[in-house]
Amino acid sequence: MQMRTAVIGAGVVGLSTAYALLRHGSEAVVFETGTPMGARSAGSSRIFRLAHADSGLVAYAAAAAGLWADWTHRAGNRLVGQQTVVVTGPQAEDWAVAMTEAGVDHTLYDEVDPALGLPVSSLPGPALVDPAGGVIDAPATGRFLRAAIGNRVRQEHIHRIEVHDDWVSVHGSGGVHEVDRVVVAAGRGSLELAAQVDLYLPTELAHHVRFTFRLKDSDAAPPCWLDGTQSWRSGISSYQQLSAPGLWSIGLNLPPEVEEWERGRDQVVEESRELVRSYVREALVGVADEIVAEVYCDAPAALGDGVHVATTGPVTVVWGANLFKHAPAIGQTLANAAISDLSPQLPHAE
Ligand SMILES: Cc1cc2nc3c(=O)[nH]c(=O)nc-3n(C[C@H](O)[C@H](O)[C@H](O)COP(=O)(O)OP(=O)(O)OC[C@H]3O[C@@H](n4cnc5c(N)ncnc54)[C@H](O)[C@@H]3O)c2cc1C
Repeated sequence: MQMRTAVIGAGVVGLSTAYALLRHGSEAVVFETGTPMGARSAGSSRIFRLAHADSGLVAYAAAAAGLWADWTHRAGNRLVGQQTVVVTGPQAEDWAVAMTEAGVDHTLYDEVDPALGLPVSSLPGPALVDPAGGVIDAPATGRFLRAAIGNRVRQEHIHRIEVHDDWVSVHGSGGVHEVDRVVVAAGRGSLELAAQVDLYLPTELAHHVRFTFRLKDSDAAPPCWLDGTQSWRSGISSYQQLSAPGLWSIGLNLPPEVEEWERGRDQVVEESRELVRSYVREALVGVADEIVAEVYCDAPAALGDGVHVATTGPVTVVWGANLFKHAPAIGQTLANAAISDLSPQLPHAE
């Protein structure tokens, strides 16, 4: 009989995993408690980049780039834009080394040249340019995956996983499902499900909000930008991108004590709003300071760019803070492991 995998969670990671399983001719069903792509995968866009601190993650992103290109071809519309990514701040040099080790194209500048097109008047160098980076169209990615997966996504909350001798029972609001393997890609919900099979994920959460503003020149197309210079305020870095024509999205990485879970969502969101508007007014040029959209999520605290997996018997759990860019590769890795009955091999976390 054909092997059957239950994937828990229809965010970008769960959908990518189900997509890869189905493409391999394996059986998969995805259980989703809420709206597919509605939790940590929500919002208009994400940044794709090869640039990482670790050459293993650079190489893994390069594998993902190949799959993003394949998905674009199959979807019939571009899923990753060609804006490029600029990384400023002290990490630029280390990340350039990792890119050299992984053998991917990049350019390291000593100075932040205005020709790079960043929406600032001046900034200390160095700056690293990742020509393969760009903006991921998140809703189009979700539409593509859902169309490919079809009716194998079920609206159902999973509350228990039980491992038996040669099968697994997945207990959900719609009943008990017998499967051969389980991939838990349930974002925040993974903590509780993983603990049932004695896998313990980091539990610390933080509140995070990304804000969108209008570019004063609606035809401007700055590159995606990761700014680690902390030149506006010490302890605050940012990621920024053209989320749609004329719209500029900014996420500030705030000190842990500002984003910490115990402060409550409302207080963190309000403080983040004030900070980001001051930042736009004081540090950026060409960006109007009125907020036109917000995306909130609960995020795993203090996790960098790594992809984390843990496996016990037939159950694999995947987690991380920045998984969207790697999602096609993660899906393929998890599907290959499920099909070959091996533990998935992923690059080390940063
Ligand atoms: C504002 C913002 C900006 C970001 N920027 C970037 C970026 O530029 N680049 C990048 O690579 N990443 C970025 N990320 C991170 C990236 O989006 C996430 O890491 C990724 O989307 C996580 O996907 P996921 O499938 O693991 O989780 P999710 O999308 O959270 O999916 C998990 C799903 O599981 C479901 N679920 C939970 N519990 C259960 C249960 N018990 N039963 C059934 N279903 C359940 C949830 O409803 C949810 O839909 C950003 C995130 C945010 C919020």
